[in-house]
Amino acid sequence: MEASGVKNPQPNLEQSHKQEALGRLILVEFHGCDKEKLMDGTFVEEIMLDAAKKVDTTVVNCITHSSYPFGCTCVVALQESHLSIRTWSCYRYAAVDLYICGDGVEPWDALNHISKQLSSLNYSTVEFKRGMLSLLPPPDYTGLGDSVTEETLKQEIVAKSNYKRDFWLNELSGPVGTSVRITGNVLYRKISPFQRIEVFESKQFGKMLVNDGIIMCAEATEHSYHEMIAHVPLLTHPDPKRVLIIGGGDGGTAREVLRHEQLERIVQVEIDAAVIEACKLHLPSLACSYDNPRLELIIGDGIKYVKEASDESFDIILVDSTDPIGPGAILFTDEFYEHCYRVLTKDGVLVTQSESPSSASEQFVEIYSRYIKVFGKEKVSCFKYYTPTYPGEYFTFSYCSKGRTQPLNNLDKEKSEAFSAIHGLQYYDEETHEAAFVHPKYVKEMIKEAEERAIAEKRGESKDLSAK
Ligand code: SAM
Repeated sequence: MEASGVKNPQPNLEQSHKQEALGRLILVEFHGCDKEKLMDGTFVEEIMLDAAKKVDTTVVNCITHSSYPFGCTCVVALQESHLSIRTWSCYRYAAVDLYICGDGVEPWDALNHISKQLSSLNYSTVEFKRGMLSLLPPPDYTGLGDSVTEETLKQEIVAKSNYKRDFWLNELSGPVGTSVRITGNVLYRKISPFQRIEVFESKQFGKMLVNDGIIMCAEATEHSYHEMIAHVPLLTHPDPKRVLIIGGGDGGTAREVLRHEQLERIVQVEIDAAVIEACKLHLPSLACSYDNPRLELIIGDGIKYVKEASDESFDIILVDSTDPIGPGAILFTDEFYEHCYRVLTKDGVLVTQSESPSSASEQFVEIYSRYIKVFGKEKVSCFKYYTPTYPGEYFTFSYCSKGRTQPLNNLDKEKSEAFSAIHGLQYYDEETHEAAFVHPKYVKEMIKEAEERAIAEKRGESKDLSAK
């Protein structure tokens, strides 16, 4: 059936149901919808609420689960019953159910609205009458209190104009997901040439930057990530002067690096200017350093930058990247790490975001084997941090050392304690630093597995990078 311009395709049913049933259940299959719209939980929530308005119903609750890019579920509880949708972006398909009670309501006003908004090319539909009056006894209000009559029940419905809104952002990029309750209001949205960038307000963790449906950082939880990526290497390198940040568009890493006054050169290479724009506008506590003259910001590809950088030109390289999918995927390759090795000075340190041993175990072993192949097994350590906004909470950074720099032996505890106190840090201190390198047995075994994999792979290679 063609979707556009359809107005009440079954007018006779409406006429007859008034006498026959309490309500109508209409199931609609919308095909050929706009893919982007089906992925967009906020948009779907909005059209469902508008559809409820179109038929003059009273919304009491709206629950949305948005799982970008797969689709979303939205259920609108109506005083008059319910309206629900499940979208599948991959099939350009949406299943809509509307059960609506009461006289004088034309459900197709709501369904036509949904069809138009999803740009559906065609649909099919089935309708049932529910609560057949001929099968029900006459209404009995006894026992509900003296004041309850059919009339007062109707007034109660009208009085309830405020509804509860539940909106969940589900990150389902891997085998383990994260679900965060958000307000549902989109503060920023842009589809850049590299990714889809969004900023949402969460109920618990403040505003959150979400790239391609993956939570990058949240105001209340970002300190663990940014303080650890910066201060662990900077407080253990014997004499850091030049730091290179790859990615890190939210600005949190640059903010932490800039606390180290002795640095002479700080370069940040972020591929996507829109991430910086979004964070300057909505996450100013992170993106607070972009006007600092000590920070050299380059909008460009970090891979290309490192490939073209001179040998031994940085003491510390921090890879504050997205996950190994999307624009950040290539930041997890051997070739990239080989160039980092070359660009580091004699005692240089590379720190990279290295995933979670609990929720991304396969990726974890894979990327550690790459670091070990390039830097050598004695020169690679793993340190952890916790964040409730990443799936699994237990996440890690790798500490890859080109020369003598050691993440624990080089730690000056007093200096580190004083640094944490002076800067009023929220996560990092000398104890957290030391404890971060302690892992449960199963993680130690995974690192061992990465070592064995690296050794086996190297046996098949002639290039010996650690002998450089
Ligand atoms: N803390 C975050 C996490 O792990 O979820 C990472 C945050 S940060 C926003 C990651 C940044 O890396 C993004 O802004 C993305 O644009 C940037 N990025 C990805 N690939 C890149 C590349 N090849 N060169 C430079 N920046 C890159």
